[in-house]
Amino acid sequence: MSIIEDETGKRSLNFIEAFVESDLKEGKNGNRVHTRFPPEPNGYLHIGHAKAICLDFGIAQQYGGKCNLRFDDTNPTKEDVEYVDSIMEDIHWLGFDWEDRLFYASDYFGKLFDFANQLIKSGLAYVDDQPAEEISKQKGTPTQPGTDSPFRSRSVEENLDLFARMNQGEFEEGSRVLRAKIDMSSPNMHFRDPIIYRIIKYPHHRTGEAWKVYPMYDFAHGQCDFFEGITHSLCTLEFEVHRPLYDWFVTQLKDEDNDYRPRQIEFNRLNLTYTVMSKRKLLQLVQEGLVKGWDDPRMPTLCGLRRRGYTPESIKNFIKKIGYTKVDGMIDVSLLEHSVREHLNQIATRISAVIDPVKLIITNYPEDKVEMMEAIDNPELHEESPVHEIPFTRELYIERDDFMENPPKKYFRMTPGNEVRLKSAYIVKCTGCKKNEETGEVEEIYCEYDPQTRSGMPEADRKVKGTLHWVSAVKSIPAEVRIYDRLFNVENPAEETEKDFRELLNPDSLKVLTNCRIEPYAEKAQPGDRFQFQRIGYFNVDKDSQPGKLVFNRTVSLKDTWGKVKGKE
Ligand code: ATP
Ligand code: MG
Repeated sequence: MSIIEDETGKRSLNFIEAFVESDLKEGKNGNRVHTRFPPEPNGYLHIGHAKAICLDFGIAQQYGGKCNLRFDDTNPTKEDVEYVDSIMEDIHWLGFDWEDRLFYASDYFGKLFDFANQLIKSGLAYVDDQPAEEISKQKGTPTQPGTDSPFRSRSVEENLDLFARMNQGEFEEGSRVLRAKIDMSSPNMHFRDPIIYRIIKYPHHRTGEAWKVYPMYDFAHGQCDFFEGITHSLCTLEFEVHRPLYDWFVTQLKDEDNDYRPRQIEFNRLNLTYTVMSKRKLLQLVQEGLVKGWDDPRMPTLCGLRRRGYTPESIKNFIKKIGYTKVDGMIDVSLLEHSVREHLNQIATRISAVIDPVKLIITNYPEDKVEMMEAIDNPELHEESPVHEIPFTRELYIERDDFMENPPKKYFRMTPGNEVRLKSAYIVKCTGCKKNEETGEVEEIYCEYDPQTRSGMPEADRKVKGTLHWVSAVKSIPAEVRIYDRLFNVENPAEETEKDFRELLNPDSLKVLTNCRIEPYAEKAQPGDRFQFQRIGYFNVDKDSQPGKLVFNRTVSLKDTWGKVKGKE
């Protein structure tokens, strides 16, 4: 097997690269490699589309070719410019570019209409006056041949006339269709006189009222590939059965002495656990207000992942890891989470944030004193890491669950009589706490610090078992923190047939913590900025942030805790 070397090292070619290389070796299509990414602008792109984008643009890059962006806008009732714009933004965000090759299937409506007329003239297409249900009944089954439509033998003249009038708006939607005349007994059901044009009386977002008939996917896709000189048309496995039809139309379209021919190659689509990927279902979630829009950070959309704090690099790395095969399967979403954790570990600045604060008072520390402690931005960078300052004062906040009055064994955090290190600052010894008389809730914790334990002091290296993060009570800033969990409670929401997928939503997929405190270093942070909250996870600044009130999204926890939590139940 051939070997390829890229920035991640040596690996064997995947089956698509192997096909492309063998086509190049045979000198097919003038040694060109030209791919396309063909989204339908009827929704936002999701992580599954990223898999197709990385392949379409990646193969072109790898073999010195080109990749077009082509909107497959053949169904005006479901499509919208909002989607067109978002799709372009998302592809650019991933780091790919179609240069000057932005196309629309609607660019070819004229050519496709002419081609349909040409098929009619060659006796290879006819207008059928039957409703869709009737046509589908006559299709037969894979083992039984279909039945000819009573309109199958219409004259060329009548077909030309009816098709023209269909497009002039004379007939109602659903009253007539144009079908290719191929073979009603073909073992491939797609050859049994497929519908190639239907009447749609709805304005198109680009062509307005110009057309009343619209080509079906099968009649548009291969032809558009052909018009654009596409050499490798990469799509997901469900199109494998359409491939013979794709080839049939291309054969009708091309001159016999022309060697050029696009080749369709199918690969496995991405399915992720705890995720739905169907655009129809994602649209439902948005329209029914079950999530807060397409870019809700719990959505598998690219804009949702971006808002959540995912980096393009982490998504591309994930896609690289899962690879391309001919076998459909389910990928564990924790692999995606692992990829972003891996990347953020390298790039995110560490800061101190207390998301469930309780006050810690250092009773032997001077009241108005402020010491600036040095905090390392990113220990992964070792000596190269920049540092920043974090103010230390008499009153601090620590996490509520970092204190226990009566701890179990092996609890090495704050507990009366015990010493812990306050990260980047001093070792302190807990002396007690004050509780609310009615609720019993801890309101303040008391401790004493050892001045000899600050970095550079003689006792700085003294061993203690626990290290806690903290922020200054007076110098920290308030923040809201949004903690996300998986949107669905079951591993494969698409497979559950008993229940509607909306009943499978995880009611705890969003937790909003409004009393968090962040070290002042983050005060000027802008939407999109990424941080590691020490000991908690990776977070980014949300666009809902306002002056004086930052809002953070948890991108991912520091470790994969899902397995453990589930296991406990
Ligand atoms: P629709 O049902 O609306 O056709 P779709 O998910 O196929 O939905 P398209 O806009 O047609 O959406 O997809 C554009 C391209 O992305 C297609 O080539 C399709 O094969 C690919 N694609 C879509 N979903 C996935 C997925 N989950 N994994 C890999 N590729 C995908
Ligand atoms: Mg599609």
